[in-house]
Amino acid sequence: MAERATDAPAEPDADAAPAHRCPECGYVYETAAGDPREGFAPGTPWAAIPDGWTCPDCGVEDKRSFVPVVGAAAGG
Ligand SMILES: [Zn+2]
Repeated sequence: MAERATDAPAEPDADAAPAHRCPECGYVYETAAGDPREGFAPGTPWAAIPDGWTCPDCGVEDKRSFVPVVGAAAGG
């Protein structure tokens, strides 16, 4: 028998990370800041970014290649 746990997710939701980083150039998309030059208003969630969107800095990596940034990664 299997019971469903409804109070806690079994695995972290990468889309829920506060920021995502381009593995190619290091560009970071922050949900709270958005990216107005790309047409994403501040607060635009990662899930709302089109799958075909590519990194505005290097244009090499697309959304699916971005890695979620969690914890105290800010600074510098
Ligand atoms: Zn990039």
